[in-house]
Amino acid sequence: MFKSAYLIRVFADLSKRYQDQPEFLQAVEEVLQSIDLLVEKDPRIERNAIVERIVEPERMIKFRVSWVDDSGKVQINRAMRVQFNSAIGPYKGGIRFHHSVNESIMKFLAFEQTFKNSLTCLPLGGAKGGSDFDPEGKSDNEIMRFCQGFILELYRHIGPRMDVPAGDLGVGAREVGYLYGMYKRIENEFSGTFTSKGIESGGSLGRAEATGYGLCYFVEEMLKTFRNETFKDKKVIISGAGKVGSMAAEKAIELGAKVIAISDISGMIHDEKGIDIELIKNLSKTNSIVIDKYQTYHPESIFSPNPTDIWTVPCDIALPCATQNEIYLDSAKALVANGCYLVAEGANMPTTSEANKYFREHNVLFGPGKAANAGGVAVSGLEMTQNATFQNWSFEEVDQKLHGIMKKIFKRCHEASMTYVGRPDDLITGANIAGFMKVYQAMLQQGV
Ligand code: GLU
Repeated sequence: MFKSAYLIRVFADLSKRYQDQPEFLQAVEEVLQSIDLLVEKDPRIERNAIVERIVEPERMIKFRVSWVDDSGKVQINRAMRVQFNSAIGPYKGGIRFHHSVNESIMKFLAFEQTFKNSLTCLPLGGAKGGSDFDPEGKSDNEIMRFCQGFILELYRHIGPRMDVPAGDLGVGAREVGYLYGMYKRIENEFSGTFTSKGIESGGSLGRAEATGYGLCYFVEEMLKTFRNETFKDKKVIISGAGKVGSMAAEKAIELGAKVIAISDISGMIHDEKGIDIELIKNLSKTNSIVIDKYQTYHPESIFSPNPTDIWTVPCDIALPCATQNEIYLDSAKALVANGCYLVAEGANMPTTSEANKYFREHNVLFGPGKAANAGGVAVSGLEMTQNATFQNWSFEEVDQKLHGIMKKIFKRCHEASMTYVGRPDDLITGANIAGFMKVYQAMLQQGV
């Protein structure tokens, strides 16, 4: 647990108050563990109740969305926006549409986002929103009506300098288009109050690729710094064949790696000769689930209907890019036993605390999501700059800036882990401390 009596007290209070929010408590515990040393050294943190404040969202908006399905039946969904922290910039973070969305998941994501956004060095606060509405199996018109109903409530709480949402699980270009379209109609101005928009609607080139590409740029830095190596000839496995996973695969291949396994909820596919990522991207244009269709085109590949089998495939590098808590202790053990020495999180908190501990004990190089998947929100920040200044940057310009940002994020995590832990590869602690410092200093400057 924690050394600091202050943190023990704050976390005990929080655990009691939110005992039904396991994901949120898991995310908070990890950050508090990392800042334990800081709290002991810097009495201003306790004196100003920084930790009590930083673990409590500044505002939460909960609302009902009613919409009419194609058969004329009225449907009800629950929705919310968690505006967690605005110390360093306007609230910023994605919107998730998935049946699993609840307060615990929204709060954990918004909390993580606060530190992730801080690491990008851009002026972005932390937020997250979503609904238990699942676009899977709904028609285009149903999705549009739902998105319009969602914005009819949320529009009053967002704005270009107040809160700028984006996509996340279940919210892609189509959903962002409908959400932003409705927002623009109500506000009667082109403010860019949404990122990851379609290019023609003011989106940024390179945003769709940003999280996956950024993840690979971060891994490149890890390989270079800790092993004096590159992606060349590395065997990579990737969970999640959506936006993040497929783009990470594309970049890893471009950098010389061999992506030998990939999964989605329909199963996993393994091919030592390398996965045909162009096929996956093509199938994704018309299907949200693609892996169970892959073998028809490549009968020589091995298919398993169990997505977690991916963690048993021997590899050098594992990139979990699907969702939270997808690597449990068993999978971590299988990865280590099969020679995996580097894990970097493309999704938010895909590794459970037990799996994390196991990786650490077995010297697996670990790139935490807050840092490793910050490329998406970083390019969202660049999209905001382009919208605010009425500019359109080229793909190369954006990609180059993204590359620079990911290198800088790695450097900050690496330096913080050396300075505060004396262990250069403890990027979890490094990311948490570096992310926390900026938010904490800003809160201190702004008073209570
Ligand atoms: N949902 C993404 C994330 O988890 C992107 C958020 C954004 O672009 O605002 O970081």
